[in-house]
Amino acid sequence: MKNLCILGSTGSIGVSTLDIVAAHPERYRVVALTGGNNLERLREQTLRFSPKVVAVVSEQDALRLKESLGAQAPEILAGVEGMAACASHSEADMVVSAIVGAAGLVPTMAAIEAGKDVALANKETLVAAGPLVMEAVRRRGVNLFPVDSEHSAIFQSLTGHRRADVQRLILTASGGPFRDSSLEELRGVTPAQALAHPNWDMGRKISIDSATMMNKGLEVIEARWLFDLPADRIGVHIHPQSIVHSMVEYVDGSVIAQMGIPDMKTPIAYALSYPERLSLPLPPLDLCAVGTLTFDQPDTERFACLSLAYQALESGGTAPAVVNAANEVAVEAFLEGRVAFLQIPEVIRAALDRHRSEPLDSIEAAQRADRWGRAEARRIIQTFIA
Ligand code: NDP
Repeated sequence: MKNLCILGSTGSIGVSTLDIVAAHPERYRVVALTGGNNLERLREQTLRFSPKVVAVVSEQDALRLKESLGAQAPEILAGVEGMAACASHSEADMVVSAIVGAAGLVPTMAAIEAGKDVALANKETLVAAGPLVMEAVRRRGVNLFPVDSEHSAIFQSLTGHRRADVQRLILTASGGPFRDSSLEELRGVTPAQALAHPNWDMGRKISIDSATMMNKGLEVIEARWLFDLPADRIGVHIHPQSIVHSMVEYVDGSVIAQMGIPDMKTPIAYALSYPERLSLPLPPLDLCAVGTLTFDQPDTERFACLSLAYQALESGGTAPAVVNAANEVAVEAFLEGRVAFLQIPEVIRAALDRHRSEPLDSIEAAQRADRWGRAEARRIIQTFIA
């Protein structure tokens, strides 16, 4: 029996994780859940999975949840300290890190420092503080299993091979809903259009990141730290069918790929059950029905966010944390109708240009850069609106 803490249980990854838990009660037990604004869903999950502790963002919501659960309320905590307490709960064996954004950094680090294995969906944690997170993983001797489908594919394609034989990693990208749109068409994109991803059903922020291709940029940074390879050995191919989830090229020319239908339950389950594989009630991949698999180079003129992520990696230090923070602010502003789709990369570029990168020598340095990136992005957006 594996005891789980699920950070971000009310989100898309969190709900899929709980579906797997519900299908395998003989293997998994929930000891801690954390949510954000969706109190009703967290209440239902609490009643169904009986965690020992639950955390929400504000004290006010903690009280509200406690009242609504009445006698069935478990311990209810609030704030980032509450999330960190859930992540380091003495009974948890594994923490599923599925909060969206840099808000996941402190609870994920708390899990690692408490010696928990982590199934990591929250890529922003590695973007903001990759070297520090990986150092903590090594020092504490814990396992960090990727949940992102691309990184899970690479993890699977590396298994049984010598790291020294790896030539490069190739991340695949669907290209999002605007793969074939012209720059002119991209100018008028609305939030509703950008949220409609052709292949994957995901949370709002990652859906916008997929439409701008910042998601792929964040994944390049994530891969750089997870697999310890420099950025010039991490490439991106546009693969609209989302069947090949990513590939590893070896020095002898062999390319090992992992394939499957686009459903996050597969990589989540693999992270939960590694090295075993869980039986999942998913339709099989029918390659004959898919017919054709295509691959293409990304267009970094129309999708500037991808280049900005590479640029941040090259700058190093606190630059990726700033890019991540500016992106979070710009995406929120786009969803609220305050900036246009093509202004998202403009906000990030302006913040990156103004940032003087500093060494990333502590989590506090990552948090300072995150705060600076957010404030700067807000200022830049004001100048756009004025
Ligand atoms: P969602 O927006 O669906 O869910 C995010 C979760 O985080 C929710 O539980 C939300 O609570 C919670 N949350 C939001 N803000 C805060 C905060 N400030 N403090 C604490 N909790 C907060 O996102 P996804 O599930 O789509 O994505 C989660 C992570 O997984 C992201 O990092 C994403 O990049 C990554 N990922 C997602 C994939 C997908 O298919 N969805 C694929 C690969 C990676 P509430 O909803 O209650 O407000």
